[in-house]
Amino acid sequence: MLKGKTAIVTGSTSGIGLGIAKALAAQGANIVLNGFGDVDSPKAEVAALGAQVGYHGADMSKPADIEAMVQYANTTFGGVDILVNNAGIQHVARVENFPVEKWDAVIAINLSSAFHATRLVLPGMQAKNWGRIINVASVHGLVGSAEKSAYVAAKHGIVGLTKVTALENATSGVTCNAICPGWVLTPLVQKQVDAKASAQGISNADATKQLLGEKEPSLQFTTPEELGGLAVFFCSPAGNNVRGVAWNMDGGWTAQ
Ligand code: NAD
Repeated sequence: MLKGKTAIVTGSTSGIGLGIAKALAAQGANIVLNGFGDVDSPKAEVAALGAQVGYHGADMSKPADIEAMVQYANTTFGGVDILVNNAGIQHVARVENFPVEKWDAVIAINLSSAFHATRLVLPGMQAKNWGRIINVASVHGLVGSAEKSAYVAAKHGIVGLTKVTALENATSGVTCNAICPGWVLTPLVQKQVDAKASAQGISNADATKQLLGEKEPSLQFTTPEELGGLAVFFCSPAGNNVRGVAWNMDGGWTAQ
């Protein structure tokens, strides 16, 4: 379905981004991976699906790096048809104790990076009259949780950016939508499970049960594969007139 299209997926060396990159690759898209850590295995996993794979190591907190990444996609693959703004970090502390540099980093990586990547790819999408921008927000784009001020502010912000981008392009073939996952067991969440287990002196299994039980009625994690399926839907012809939604996939978290 996506043969000949090129997707940039930010923060795709692990977790949700890698799951979405693989789902788009399985539909035939060329993929530009981005993110830190091991690059060879994610590259190999995506290439095994028959996709052409590139990589750019842009630090998503740096606008000049984001510009270089989009330029790389343009010169390597001839343009960007799908942009998945996924890179994100978490920091947990009460507002009065929240380190200022952590606030700035969360806002830069989880919110401003999406603005920069979006503004840079839009002209090319508008010229082709086809494009898909998918912002990986969170249930925290819809509701709050204590000790996550920067994250919740950034995720509410990216839902707002999604709506405005969708509206400004509403009469064109360029759509913009957000995905709002509940808990997904990735390294970002594993750190929170580990912290809970050590703070309370309980096992990882008990900490996981507690984490899910507090918020997610299904008591199940959403998987990167399921989120990849939603991203593919947004890119499909059935998604042509889906514009500006913040679609939760959260085991009932925000239904409460
Ligand atoms: P993860 O830690 O597994 O992956 C994060 C990715 O972002 C990695 O590839 C990492 O290298 C990359 N990254 C981090 N800082 C970066 C930077 N400055 N520049 C470039 N890349 C950077 O996390 P994840 O859980 O897969 O999270 C992905 C997205 O999904 C995030 O936006 C997160 O907020 C969102 N999300 C996660 C969950 C969850 O439960 N895991 C739930 C809702 C939303």
